[in-house]
Amino acid sequence: MRTGVAGLIRTHRIARLAVVGLAVLASRAARGQESDPRSPLAQAAQALARRSIETSFRLMNRPFEPFRLIGNVYYVGASDVSSFLITTPEGHILIDSGFAATVPLIRDGVRKLGFRFEDIRILLNSHAHVDHAGGHALLKRLTGARIVMSAADARLLAQGGRGDFLPVSEEVLAYEPAQADRIIGDGDHVTLGGVTLTAHLTPGHTQGCTTWTMVVEEAGKNHDVVFYGSTTLLPGVRLVGNPKYPGMAEDFARTFRVLKALPCDVFLGPHGSQFGLREKARRLAAGEKPNPFIDPAGYRAFLAQSEQVVAQRMERERRGSGSRHESGQGDGESRPPAGPPASAASRSQPEGREP
Ligand SMILES: [Zn+2]
Repeated sequence: MRTGVAGLIRTHRIARLAVVGLAVLASRAARGQESDPRSPLAQAAQALARRSIETSFRLMNRPFEPFRLIGNVYYVGASDVSSFLITTPEGHILIDSGFAATVPLIRDGVRKLGFRFEDIRILLNSHAHVDHAGGHALLKRLTGARIVMSAADARLLAQGGRGDFLPVSEEVLAYEPAQADRIIGDGDHVTLGGVTLTAHLTPGHTQGCTTWTMVVEEAGKNHDVVFYGSTTLLPGVRLVGNPKYPGMAEDFARTFRVLKALPCDVFLGPHGSQFGLREKARRLAAGEKPNPFIDPAGYRAFLAQSEQVVAQRMERERRGSGSRHESGQGDGESRPPAGPPASAASRSQPEGREP
């Protein structure tokens, strides 16, 4: 029953993975010409990398019908970059601004749902990459919302995504810098209009990656919601002994422990493909009960698979193929480990690909 939608999603994902993969390769080729960065080959490779990544970003940023997800949580993001609106009587909280080009989609979605865009008071973030924080500066200007971030990702935000440890040209990952108004630490709370979210620092994907949790009520029942920050290990990123992020492997290990210990009924994340947005939204619209976004098993399966990807990378690096990664020859991340259920595979296949 899910084949049609899943197949369609997979087709789009393969196209996106192909361009991202091509871009990474082109970027590496460009870096290989560092002795002569103005050579025609290096310039062509850089132009190709830029165009490929821009194409993949456009594919993630197509309009998506906004909808009430559960309780007072609404989806107002694009096709594969999430934005979650949490409404309260005293104004609203938004998690992630997407790209700068996502902000008009968010604004239209909020209005279509009957809320005021200008009532967004607090802007939270999963992590400060261009596809989740690229719109922060614009959104803050338009709404006056206060930006609440972890210290490490507030630094990345203030640099507009520059100075990160990704093996991709900074030009395509850079965005308009913004200043955080409040720095949160592990276990800190953000409260507005009777709604409280808790920050869990889950570094690894970025050094300040943050998972947010809250409790929603629907049909007289309470549900634990997890806004997962990301545990994607991008291709070409050296996990152990990375000079730009020395504690990455330890951070990932702790992050998986933290995430696995969180109570989770409703699993949400920065990319719709990670938590089955399209399929679950369709089932919700068809009136399925209980709410299909209540998916504790999906959360566990996703984490298990993501942890396996990181463990496999570590094993490869330990066996001595780390030098391949050091020189930027990451591989294998496009194939999920053998044996997971199809739905889990289709959800977690983007592991290691999306920024
Ligand atoms: Zn990212």
